[in-house]
Amino acid sequence: MIVADLKPIREIAESISPFQKVTIVACGGCVSVCLTGGARSADTLARALSHPRHYRKRPPIFDTTTIQRQCEKDFIAAYLKVPDDTDAILSMACGAGVQTLAETFGELPIIPALNTSFLGSLDEPGIWREKCQGCGSCVLAFTGGICPVTRCAKHLLNGPCGGSSNGKCEISKDVDCAWQLIIDRLKALGRLDDYEKLFPMKDWSSDRGGGPRSMQFSGVKT
Ligand code: SF4
Ligand code: SF4
Repeated sequence: MIVADLKPIREIAESISPFQKVTIVACGGCVSVCLTGGARSADTLARALSHPRHYRKRPPIFDTTTIQRQCEKDFIAAYLKVPDDTDAILSMACGAGVQTLAETFGELPIIPALNTSFLGSLDEPGIWREKCQGCGSCVLAFTGGICPVTRCAKHLLNGPCGGSSNGKCEISKDVDCAWQLIIDRLKALGRLDDYEKLFPMKDWSSDRGGGPRSMQFSGVKT
């Protein structure tokens, strides 16, 4: 899922201070799982932002609404209604959701309430960890389902660097060495032979170095 963090209230308040009527549009998808989207978070944010101490003049008046997926134009067209007197939309969605709203509501300012952080998973209560960088050419089949592109600080594809120590990465004693995890997992799977195979040079053309990417759905290829 996409993980995002709420911007500091002060920063959001400054962004919306020129407007009198702000509609908070929360996304009910990924970011609702990390509690920075969804109806309840939108109401909580509206309450926090309504406090006069954040503004030199009067605070804006807020409306809140939630849409299941803020990154789909069809969903927005079918389900999102914002009051006619809205001056600006405050989006509680990832950057893709914010931009989809901006393309849909050309005449209204769309302001992000979140900092989009990463693609990750909920590992423990309240702890999300980055798991994928969307490189476009997945190697998990050969690495025991653990991503070296994301979880190795040096993106190494053929085993650990010399800094790996006691299963930890040289960047921090609190960070597992991705390659230690991969080796342990391959051992458990009885697939340690995979570790001996050298990865050919990875084709990074599908990564984001070539600029924004797009994909055309073509169905399951047989
Ligand atoms: S190899 Fe690429 S697609 Fe697969 S998990 Fe890692 S970053 Fe994501
Ligand atoms: S210690 Fe492990 S995870 Fe850290 S950079 Fe080296 S190989 Fe990658």
